[in-house]
Amino acid sequence: MSTLLEVDGVSVSFDGFRAINNLSIQIGEPELRAVIGPNGAGKTTFMDIITGKTKPDEGRVTWGDKNISLLGMSESQIAMEGIGRKFQKPTVFEAQTVRENLAMALRNPRGPFSVLFYKKTKHGGARIEEIAAEVGLTDALTRQAGELSHGQKQWLEIGMLLAQDPRLLLVDEPAAGMTTQEREHTTDLLKRAAKTRAVVVVEHDMEFVRRLDCKVTVLHEGSVLAEGSLDHVTANQTVIDVYLGR
Ligand code: ADP
Repeated sequence: MSTLLEVDGVSVSFDGFRAINNLSIQIGEPELRAVIGPNGAGKTTFMDIITGKTKPDEGRVTWGDKNISLLGMSESQIAMEGIGRKFQKPTVFEAQTVRENLAMALRNPRGPFSVLFYKKTKHGGARIEEIAAEVGLTDALTRQAGELSHGQKQWLEIGMLLAQDPRLLLVDEPAAGMTTQEREHTTDLLKRAAKTRAVVVVEHDMEFVRRLDCKVTVLHEGSVLAEGSLDHVTANQTVIDVYLGR
């Protein structure tokens, strides 16, 4: 596993309040990582920094084999580097079928050259079926997205992001509002997706994080409080105090 993303000594202040304080995190490729922390810990700001929505006051964010800095880039340039972000609420085209949604995502490649690669490699149909199978929506391909369950919409949106072939996928609280069965399916899906790319999951639900069975980073007051297996971080007394509230 090589390092794909390195956040190094990053700080961000909003009106004098340090939301991110000397934060350093490395994400490998491939890797599945869970980022947890209490409300206000800085999880959203962390994602905003990586995607270029928020520019840090200090520190470095380097990316990829050539260690290019993401800091001077616009949000769309960063997306084209292969960083996909899944927000909490599903945003799919409700009036279109699952197949049409995936076809649209495939027609909207993330980089100027991927159009060429797309034409040369697998054509729409085969790739759509492949992605549908990957996210477990094969039987729903002809259904209208608006008719899907909340969980299925989330998987469809993850599928649409996978169609863009990201090297890093940021996923914000995927388990929120899901049934136990849907959570299990989501865990499998994310684990599978993380076999060939970096997947960072920001999550509150401890049971869900346990099922992900991956390295966990605990944020607190804009810094890394603990990092390691879930058992390791939850054995840390400060983590228990600030996060678990016991
Ligand atoms: P989390 O996602 O872990 O709940 P956030 O990254 O949203 O945490 O927020 C971290 C801290 O920064 C919080 O105290 C929040 O109120 C503050 N914050 C975030 N964005 C802004 C902003 N645009 N202006 C002022 N304060 C902000």
